[in-house]
Amino acid sequence: MSGSAASCDVAVAGAGPAGAVAACLLARAGLSVLLCDSRLVDGAAPAKPGEALPGAAVRLLRACGLPLPGDSGRHTHVGGNISVWGWPEPIYRDFLSEPDGPGWRLDRAAFEAELVSAALAAGARALPLNLARVARDDTRWRLWSRGGAEWRVSFLVDASGRAASLARRLGATRRRDEALVAVVGRARPDPAYRLNRTLVETVPQGWWYAALLPDGAPVFMLHSRPHEAARLLARPEEWRAALADTRHVAAAFPGAVFDAPLSGHDACGAWLEPVYGPGWVACGDAALSFDPAAAQGILAALHGGTEVARAIPAAMRGELGPLRAYAARLLEMRRLYRQRLIAHYADEQRWPEAPFWREHGRVTA
Ligand SMILES: Cc1cc2nc3c(=O)[nH]c(=O)nc-3n(C[C@H](O)[C@H](O)[C@H](O)COP(=O)(O)OP(=O)(O)OC[C@H]3O[C@@H](n4cnc5c(N)ncnc54)[C@H](O)[C@@H]3O)c2cc1C
Repeated sequence: MSGSAASCDVAVAGAGPAGAVAACLLARAGLSVLLCDSRLVDGAAPAKPGEALPGAAVRLLRACGLPLPGDSGRHTHVGGNISVWGWPEPIYRDFLSEPDGPGWRLDRAAFEAELVSAALAAGARALPLNLARVARDDTRWRLWSRGGAEWRVSFLVDASGRAASLARRLGATRRRDEALVAVVGRARPDPAYRLNRTLVETVPQGWWYAALLPDGAPVFMLHSRPHEAARLLARPEEWRAALADTRHVAAAFPGAVFDAPLSGHDACGAWLEPVYGPGWVACGDAALSFDPAAAQGILAALHGGTEVARAIPAAMRGELGPLRAYAARLLEMRRLYRQRLIAHYADEQRWPEAPFWREHGRVTA
């Protein structure tokens, strides 16, 4: 069987923002790249939550010659955010003051498809499966497709998101911060909804996020403890009642009608130890993931994809300095993120006895 194995330089597990960007830049650098993700065929794969992209991402995409959100007409601007966190009155922040311009509301599936198209146009090859079986053989990896076809690969990138499935299979440990689960509901589009901002509102059981998607459908997410999330997923009418109880989110989208079922998503911060090893590296959420309150997951994933694409050609020549520098930058990003997140949660002192705020108000770096 090994005699008939095809070979390539790099296999990227995961075609989300991190993996697609890494694959694109590696292919442009002249390496042969396999981009693997079962979503590349499963057109009906459930939509990922998360559609807010800060304006700073446009600078990064432009610098790398990647598709810009403004190119396709599928994504819309968002003018700022409204935060009701720590006191009952909203604080408005306008992106007018941002040097990189307004943020974007993404059609998330379209955004990822645009990045994957760029990777394929650069010469990466799509393998529509999730990588599960890998084995190290001297200095190369062996991978098998579902049908049993074998590949020989020099370097692996784990861009599999929060699963970090490849890195964990290779012995890395994913360490998790305080538990957080988002219960997400998407309502029917309504032309009457006009909110051009994202909206966050705290409640005793956690915090709500709401935004209007480019197709006019509002999306609502309650971030709470796993026990509470499981209860609400089992009783969607209680989730809808909790939404109706909010002061600002409910008022922004009156009469929201929900046809689709709710979905639950792990949303806690986490990091991987180590983020690289012999012949592999992780990027995006697989390497470092954020509480969505930080609103930087997609930008950090895009950035991580560019960083590993820069470091891998050197690592393949045996120079590990760039990978070490990448790992050090991730540590520093995490340090800053935790510092700011802890201060942010400490700003909400109205429900010190509520289990969610007791837990999140006491976290340490
Ligand atoms: C509730 C919630 C709301 C969020 N909202 C925002 C937001 O508004 N703005 C923002 O910037 N960020 C947001 N985020 C974070 C953001 O979605 C992530 O940070 C981002 O998706 C990370 O990109 P990624 O490419 O690392 O991983 P992902 O986008 O998760 O992509 C990983 C890919 O890997 C594939 N995969 C998994 N296992 C394998 C395998 N073994 N082999 C091959 N492929 C595999 C998956 O199918 C998937 O396509 C939110 C997150 C949550 C949970």
